[in-house]
Amino acid sequence: MKEKKIALVAGGAGFIGSHLCARLLEQGWDVLCLDNMLTARPGNLRALTNHPGFSFVRADITDPLPDEVVEQADRIERIYNLACAASPPHYQSDPEHTMLTNVVGTDRLLRLAEQSGARFLLTSTSEVYGDPEQHPQREDYRGWVNCTGPRACYDEGKRAAEAMAFDFGRLQRAEVRVARIFNTYGPHMDPRDGRVVSNLICQALEGQEITIYGDGSQTRSFCYVSDLVDGLIRLMEAKDVSLTPVNLGNPEEYTITQLLEQVRALVPTTAEVVYHPLPVDDPRRRRPDIGRARALLGWAPRVPLAAGLAETVRWFAEEMQRMQLLELPVQETRLSA
Ligand code: UDP
Repeated sequence: MKEKKIALVAGGAGFIGSHLCARLLEQGWDVLCLDNMLTARPGNLRALTNHPGFSFVRADITDPLPDEVVEQADRIERIYNLACAASPPHYQSDPEHTMLTNVVGTDRLLRLAEQSGARFLLTSTSEVYGDPEQHPQREDYRGWVNCTGPRACYDEGKRAAEAMAFDFGRLQRAEVRVARIFNTYGPHMDPRDGRVVSNLICQALEGQEITIYGDGSQTRSFCYVSDLVDGLIRLMEAKDVSLTPVNLGNPEEYTITQLLEQVRALVPTTAEVVYHPLPVDDPRRRRPDIGRARALLGWAPRVPLAAGLAETVRWFAEEMQRMQLLELPVQETRLSA
């Protein structure tokens, strides 16, 4: 029998990566998951490890790729690069490593794509638009990024990774895809990674003070993870989108205060809201224009924020009980909205 082709997922044990691995296995791919486990969590792979098509290699893509990967190059047909810390506190805690992950790591995976003939997808970010002067953000907007600020290791690292991916594409060294991912949420987020959705939900569940940075009027647009994964796979499999970045995100925009209201509707809490200074270079507004994704991929998000948050709250409540962070039984929190 002919061996199945492999989809390699770098960063496959992370929040989005683990959902992508699961979906690719469902679609019949053999999945080779690479992760350095710095910001990923082993529990994210719990449901996958016994799947016969799944294999895991612990590796950091800033290092030469391990033999187990290189030896399978001729079976690798798709390479998804999701490997990078994505939460500001995490990616800023070792900024040099963040930059190298995007530049050196992406180069290693692009070279693997060149060697194997695999199609390559880079997960870039809405952060390439910086603190945007255009709203909503379209792919042809070139952004307003502070290249000397604390977010630069991530923003500029992703911009460099995009440049390299497009060069490989232009020179026909590899067939490339670039997704610009906007804020995404859902099960498998790290309760402790400091992002706004995980912080607000966990603080509400634990009855701890709610942290709002700035006055809460800044906006984000939140995409549920299943929608995002659908977009990533459609982009990878679409024809003729090689030299075009594509925004993937939910165009419904909320202030952080509105997000908090939605969380409170699901997890009633009397905890105090404490206002902290806005982090340096924190974008004021963010909303994707997804016209290109609609036109090229026939894609648009389907899960409304209230439904996605309800699923996410349910998962966090269970996860925090598993981690013994929460004494309340899950059923005592209101999860049915
Ligand atoms: N934020 C907040 N409270 C928190 C964590 C974040 O008000 O506990 C704010 C943060 O300053 C930003 C927005 O929420 O304006 C989204 O932050 P996140 O770290 O989730 O993502 P990013 O800034 O990368 O979009």
